[in-house]
Amino acid sequence: MSDLSEKSVVESVKPQLFIGGEWRAAEGGGTFAVEDPSTGDTLVEVADATPADGKAAIDAAVAAQKEWAASAPRDRGEILRKAFELIVERTDEIAMLMTLEMGKPLSESKAEIAYGAEFFRWFSEEAVRVAGRYSVAPNGATRLLTLKQPVGPCLMITPWNFPLAMGTRKIGPAIAAGCTMVIKPASLTPLTMLYLADLLAEAGLPKGVLNVVTTKSTGDVMEPIIRDPRLRKLTFTGSTEVGRSLVEQSAEGLLRVSMELGGNAPFLVFGDADLDKAVDGAMLAKMRNIGEACTAANRFIVHESVAEEFSTRLAERMKSLSVGRGTEDGIDVGPLVEGKQRDKVAELVDDAVAQGARALTGGKAVDGAGYFYEPTVLVDVPTEARVFREEIFGPVAPVFTFREDDEAIAMANDTEFGLVAYAFTQDYQRAIRVYEGLETGMVGLNQGIVSNPAAPFGGVKASGFGREGGTEGIEEYLETKYVGLAL
Ligand code: NAP
Repeated sequence: MSDLSEKSVVESVKPQLFIGGEWRAAEGGGTFAVEDPSTGDTLVEVADATPADGKAAIDAAVAAQKEWAASAPRDRGEILRKAFELIVERTDEIAMLMTLEMGKPLSESKAEIAYGAEFFRWFSEEAVRVAGRYSVAPNGATRLLTLKQPVGPCLMITPWNFPLAMGTRKIGPAIAAGCTMVIKPASLTPLTMLYLADLLAEAGLPKGVLNVVTTKSTGDVMEPIIRDPRLRKLTFTGSTEVGRSLVEQSAEGLLRVSMELGGNAPFLVFGDADLDKAVDGAMLAKMRNIGEACTAANRFIVHESVAEEFSTRLAERMKSLSVGRGTEDGIDVGPLVEGKQRDKVAELVDDAVAQGARALTGGKAVDGAGYFYEPTVLVDVPTEARVFREEIFGPVAPVFTFREDDEAIAMANDTEFGLVAYAFTQDYQRAIRVYEGLETGMVGLNQGIVSNPAAPFGGVKASGFGREGGTEGIEEYLETKYVGLAL
């Protein structure tokens, strides 16, 4: 158990809207409840923004844009650096807050905070590296100058599964590039973002650069902002279904758009794989964030010669995990974020079992308060089962088998999604064939985690477009201007 009091951590958050550098109630004073998913109890009521509040937020972002774009890159970098340091210093407090609203164990919250904070450090360094180009036109008659300028006011919509990191990897490059923003965190987990807004103000972020809107009337508040002709960019992380509708809305303003959407990651284990490494990688790829990650391994596609050993060892590891409230010591697996999510996981497992799958361990929800589900390994899963196509978002590992390499790659690609894939093999020629053949934006080769602030994160196909992190990350927030210079 942590020394921090849960009550004092929740009370450290201002449960209001943050607009133009001021904390304020929603128009009409409406609020909604934020729940602890391990008990179902309300933690706090937060402001429930209306469309008028949304308009006030984009007004504030637009008002701050010009001056912010003209600020010194070094100053923007220093604000990010300071915010990085404050986050690291306050890791225990933020971790408690995140665990209370989202459910993951404190150790997982701390891992997310370390990862999320790194985006601020990385982009503090990128802020001063934005450069253009000068060249001689091919005919020698003119000179060509290109320069980079901030895109302008951005709308950022983030999901509940990584309440800090999904925000920092958008906010970091936007600040570095000189863009202002309105950010809307998921209504299940808004507290971490409210805390972060306060921390950024303390780090010196000028008023109006970042505005936070929390709401339960999500579509009604977001759509007018997306259709506001002053908005220049929409960046969204969430489900493919919602992403599709937002792309349609963004067509009106022809916005710059980044979409980080759902996944259905294959985890390939070839006959020559180092099984110790493959099982370690599988635990990470499956159980990070209780399986509630877009990068979570969704389908284990294992060569038939090692399938039984791999599955048995994975089941032993899964069985040894302790399930419980994330704030308690020694807990590996917290609750799923809400009842609906747990029911969906249960439905997918029941469907697979009805089609002939067997649970080597787990296979059902945990009785009692909170939305817990047992860590589960399923074998003999037919590819007709829903788990082959749908994102599970829970602690369930279905194992499928293959004979030939081409068959494994075809199975891996047999999905509308294309975010990440994992492959375990010790043969480098096979590895090259495999990573070149996979239709995904990212590949983990002999490793079960790919997320890294210095690398470009993002997907292809129905997993979206655009990249966050790496040197590509800041480009999403920059426009290229070309100036033709007469001699
Ligand atoms: P979601 O239901 O799509 O929600 C994501 C965000 O969109 C939330 O802030 C949500 O607000 C908002 N939203 C919902 N309906 C909206 C609408 N009509 N207009 C504007 N905004 C709307 O997804 P989720 O369940 O929170 O997150 C899980 C999904 O995110 C999974 O599919 C996962 O794979 C994906 N994800 C992808 C990445 C990536 O980088 N590719 C990373 C993490 C998660 P409310 O909370 O108010 O509904």
